[in-house]
Amino acid sequence: MKIPPFLTVAVVLGLASAVMFAQARKLDRQVAVTIDDLPAGMADRLPAADITALTTKLLTTLRDQKVPAVGFVNEKKLYKPGEVDERIRCLQLWLDYGFELGNHTFTHMSLNQAGLKAWEDDVIQGESVTKLLLAQHRMKLRYFRHPYLDTGRDLATRREAEMFLVERGYRIAPITLDGWDWMFAGLYEDAKKRSDAVLQQQIVKEYLAYHDAVFAYAEQLSAKVVGYEPKQILLLHASNLEADHIGELLDVLRKRGYRLITLEDALGDAAYSLPDTYVGEEGTGWIDHWAISQGKIPQGAPPFPQWVMERTKDLHLSTGQVSAQPSN
Ligand SMILES: [Zn+2]
Repeated sequence: MKIPPFLTVAVVLGLASAVMFAQARKLDRQVAVTIDDLPAGMADRLPAADITALTTKLLTTLRDQKVPAVGFVNEKKLYKPGEVDERIRCLQLWLDYGFELGNHTFTHMSLNQAGLKAWEDDVIQGESVTKLLLAQHRMKLRYFRHPYLDTGRDLATRREAEMFLVERGYRIAPITLDGWDWMFAGLYEDAKKRSDAVLQQQIVKEYLAYHDAVFAYAEQLSAKVVGYEPKQILLLHASNLEADHIGELLDVLRKRGYRLITLEDALGDAAYSLPDTYVGEEGTGWIDHWAISQGKIPQGAPPFPQWVMERTKDLHLSTGQVSAQPSN
């Protein structure tokens, strides 16, 4: 009997994907999800009702899929006249849904731009509401994420800031996976506002493909720098893009063989105790930190899609509404 050609292809493809799936599973990759810039990256442009909607949608997906997450707060974004209560309720949602909150400074201040003292004050000012909300859930404020991933331009400042954070009871939350979702999110927000479904679709496709490429690159770099793939920590931002599409991004991770774990679990990986003497004008992820500390220059990172960069820039020039500022 002759097998129809389409069936052969289907069988081969089926086998190939089964093999790839088995390989991915064998690796037992693990990743923790962290989401910055709460209550929302674009909180200054979005009404509180929109922030509530996107927060609810985002958290519902995470809860339904049993994905642990920590959200990092910029409390300054709460103080919009007439909306303070609702914005605080958005943070409360995170805890009501069973997630955790961390500090991301009050104003999203860069340690590389501000003086150490001003920055420390911003860290302290960023604690007030979050601490109270956590206390209501019998939780303590224990995680800190550096805005823009800026950890200091010189080692003395970096170490002083770290000591300050430890003394205040923080564990620094590094990141190892970063697909610049905030950049896609700005463009997506604009397309959504104009009901441009075609552009939204293009953005989502590119956002997923770029993240997949970033994950592949980080896995390879991990092996070279750490000697294995550590429990990774993914950086995302609170936005309509994530609210609408984080489920698809989680599928990308699962296809690569990842299990979703807590930040606490991830931080237990020995990689996060590796020597790290990185300093620089530009903040970057921790695999880069470790590589540079070893005298290795990380190479071969996938280029960020040019058209997304250009459209974002155009948008900034023509409307002035979507900021092209990095908001790590
Ligand atoms: Zn940020």
